[in-house]
Amino acid sequence: MSGKRFSVFLSMSGCKRRCVYCDQRAITGEVPPSPERIMEDITSSGVKFEEICFFGGSFTCLPVAIQDSYLKIARDLSIPTRMSTHPMCIDEETLLRLSSYPISMIELGISSLDDKILEQCRRGYTGEEALRSMKLILDHRYELCAQLMIGLPGQTCRSSIEDLHRLAELKGPRSMTLRIYPCLVLEGTRLHEMMEEGYSPLSLDEAVSWGGKMLQEAHRMGFHVQRIGLSETPSLALAVRGGPHHPALGEMIRGYSMAQTLIRQSRLGPWQIPANRISYLTGHGELGLKTLAKEADLSVQETKKRIFVCPTVVD
Ligand code: SF4
Repeated sequence: MSGKRFSVFLSMSGCKRRCVYCDQRAITGEVPPSPERIMEDITSSGVKFEEICFFGGSFTCLPVAIQDSYLKIARDLSIPTRMSTHPMCIDEETLLRLSSYPISMIELGISSLDDKILEQCRRGYTGEEALRSMKLILDHRYELCAQLMIGLPGQTCRSSIEDLHRLAELKGPRSMTLRIYPCLVLEGTRLHEMMEEGYSPLSLDEAVSWGGKMLQEAHRMGFHVQRIGLSETPSLALAVRGGPHHPALGEMIRGYSMAQTLIRQSRLGPWQIPANRISYLTGHGELGLKTLAKEADLSVQETKKRIFVCPTVVD
């Protein structure tokens, strides 16, 4: 969906516990607005919104009356709506109740499917429980987005790739969307203490290669990757104490992933790049281009000569 979205940040509303890395107020700098305020903001804006998004909390863990008061806005204004929520607040009854509203997608904060990592992060479920919730959502024919993270305590790139395999097996031929977020250390979180006790957050380079490998694998398995990296906000920048914090992390990861894909297609080129993708190679200090040159064992100059931009535009 490319139209305008109206995003509502719920700032941990509904969350039954606080995950070790989380401080949504630091990420968004916002407190949750009331349903009346949202209605007023949407109707007075004069904008034809194509989607309302409830992010940053555990939507379906909220009391039903509160969920309904938010969702009634979507129904009254006939605007498709998505929400992010916690895997332990998904069941048959909830999904049946949601079916009377125009739900465009349910996003589940999964983070990882590895039980040890989930426990360390205080997520409150096992990998199997997360998979069960996702299966229920897909079986009820909702669009599903799984939010995954990289660089969590105890996590490796290999465990991320294994997660993708388990998700691919679950989805089969059905569609599934992914978001991939880096684990950042925010001031005042339990993770901040864990960093002082020995947890080592990812460097930017590590995040780029980890994310790049994941992205390549995700595309190969037929996932749609909607977003990589967090939205940059002034409050996030102020709160970060460690980890791969960079406003263009997503683009850098896409550049790395593209370089790997091109090498797979042809070890030494020539390489044809769609016009709307060339910035993945040339942006951010030519990181993608340098990765391609390194993998091909060529100079950057020589690599450039072997790249041809084609006018095709791809999604
Ligand atoms: S469930 Fe999500 S919003 Fe709630 S504390 Fe954990 S990471 Fe934060």
